[in-house]
Amino acid sequence: MEYSRLVVMYEQLSKTTKRLEKTHIISEFLKDVGAEDIEHVMLLLEGRVFPSYDSRVIGVASRLMLKSLSAATGISADKIENEWKKLGDLGLVAESIVKAKKQATLHSTKLTVRKVFENIRKLAELEGQGTVGRKTQLIAELLTSAKPLESKYIVKTILEEMRIGVGEGAMRDAIVWAFFGDKIGVKYTREGNDIEFEDRETYNKYANAVQSAYDVTNEFAEVAKTAKSKGIEGLNNIEMHVGIPIKVMLSLKVDTIEEGFETVGKPAAVEFKYDGFRIQAHKDEKGNIRLFTRRLEDVTNQFPDIVESVRKNVKGRSFIIDSEAVGYDKKTGKYLPFQSISQRIKRKYDIERMSRDFPVELNVFDVIFFDGKSMIKEPFQKRRKLLEKSVHQEKKKIVLSKFKITSEKKAIEQLFKNAFESGNEGLMFKALDAPYKPGARVGYMVKFKHMMETLDLVIIGAEWGEGKRSKWLSSYHIACADEDGNFLEIGKASTGLKEKEEEGLSFMEMTKMLKPLVISEKGKEVKIKPKIVIEVGYEEIQKSPSYTSEYALRFPRIIKLRIDKGAEDASTLDYVQKLYAQQRKS
Ligand code: AMP
Repeated sequence: MEYSRLVVMYEQLSKTTKRLEKTHIISEFLKDVGAEDIEHVMLLLEGRVFPSYDSRVIGVASRLMLKSLSAATGISADKIENEWKKLGDLGLVAESIVKAKKQATLHSTKLTVRKVFENIRKLAELEGQGTVGRKTQLIAELLTSAKPLESKYIVKTILEEMRIGVGEGAMRDAIVWAFFGDKIGVKYTREGNDIEFEDRETYNKYANAVQSAYDVTNEFAEVAKTAKSKGIEGLNNIEMHVGIPIKVMLSLKVDTIEEGFETVGKPAAVEFKYDGFRIQAHKDEKGNIRLFTRRLEDVTNQFPDIVESVRKNVKGRSFIIDSEAVGYDKKTGKYLPFQSISQRIKRKYDIERMSRDFPVELNVFDVIFFDGKSMIKEPFQKRRKLLEKSVHQEKKKIVLSKFKITSEKKAIEQLFKNAFESGNEGLMFKALDAPYKPGARVGYMVKFKHMMETLDLVIIGAEWGEGKRSKWLSSYHIACADEDGNFLEIGKASTGLKEKEEEGLSFMEMTKMLKPLVISEKGKEVKIKPKIVIEVGYEEIQKSPSYTSEYALRFPRIIKLRIDKGAEDASTLDYVQKLYAQQRKS
């Protein structure tokens, strides 16, 4: 196919901001693209010559482009630079100077899509001595044959500055309309900027097939090629490739345990929800391991420690596993919140030191591909069993997510408590018989976190602990305030404080603060002058006859000391009532 055809389409696209019109333009164009060009066209359409997950870059800076333009046109670099200052965009500069020069010296052979694509790819592959000269040559070769508008787009593509403003949804629809338009009876009216189908159901069938194929391959080039050559059958059977990230399955959110069961069914698999970042780990038949984030960025180089744990501890010739990497304190071994390790994700240097200072534990929770076979259509329970057979757990390196199958609310409450106490965000509920749906936010897994507003509550009493906590006041009676400034108890809290001082707000520190405020003692219980305010999180507010506020907090958790607040600033009963009413509604 001639490159000029692609350029005509680029120009059409640049003249509209309407999504449907862009979709229509692309789909009409795709209908005419032959099988041999379709992959190149799809990539060039997105302004790329490499798939999005490929970390290679074209690597041509503006200066080198100036040189190449000069080499191709014989115009001095200074002159071109002046033009650049005027126009502000090297693509436009190329268009204007090629136009001026055209009749005089440049000879014109017709540029094909393939030629443009291949030359640009070669630019990225050049390394070592004499590279600059070779690159200049490759670019100049294209520009001497290019027509003015072609040179504009060649330059933009090489500089990775193509912005045609077509999102994922429009690309997907363009493929559907182009290759299945006759089956779904698609009619687009440019005037009304409207789209009609004969029936929605047929449309959805094809659109879903295209979308699923994209979720698995992450490459419209491959999807379009398959749609064109093998139709919907081909799309439905498209294979994932080890080494190429697939979109991760996402979760819905629930606010109660009941809702969790309603969504995923009973019994459900329930797991800890770790507060780290998603890692999709691939191992191919040759033993190469690659790691990708939830956004499908390749982070293999940043996490040699994870690569090693996976290599050592996961059996299988080839696989793709899904997991959460969680940071932990190297002294205490306790989990740390995501922020404390997030800096590792973008790190380019000092990698070894970072992995020593900010170690992570991989919590594996799913398997997507194993020994040459896709696992996504298998039920979750079977995938979990396979994981249990294949992952050798090594503490603080690689473990399976904490997992329980249950229908009991009580068991889940206990697990939730354990999850919180060990520094996790909450729980995930998973449907035992569900497949893995890449890229979808479906009810096959749901997250259950405490989503409530926190309260600032006053400590009005406390209890001496037992066993190793006997030196400390370790459980605190917490209260909100009524309009008259009376403090009304709303529960007892101890979760959240640490046993060791270096880990954060500790029982010892709290005891030191409270002791001078003790009003009276009876048995293990003490009354405390209301002075200390703490921020408290919880799962739910409930009505309760046990406390003077007539409310109780479920799973209260001390978040921090509010040194900036006095007792008079405590959350009011009114506020508690409001939150209670809100949660009823939601
Ligand atoms: P959110 O980011 O709040 O939408 O919650 C979903 C995220 O929780 C997933 O993308 C994972 O990164 C993370 N996660 C932590 N633990 C698990 C688990 N056991 N199963 C699935 N996802 C988990």
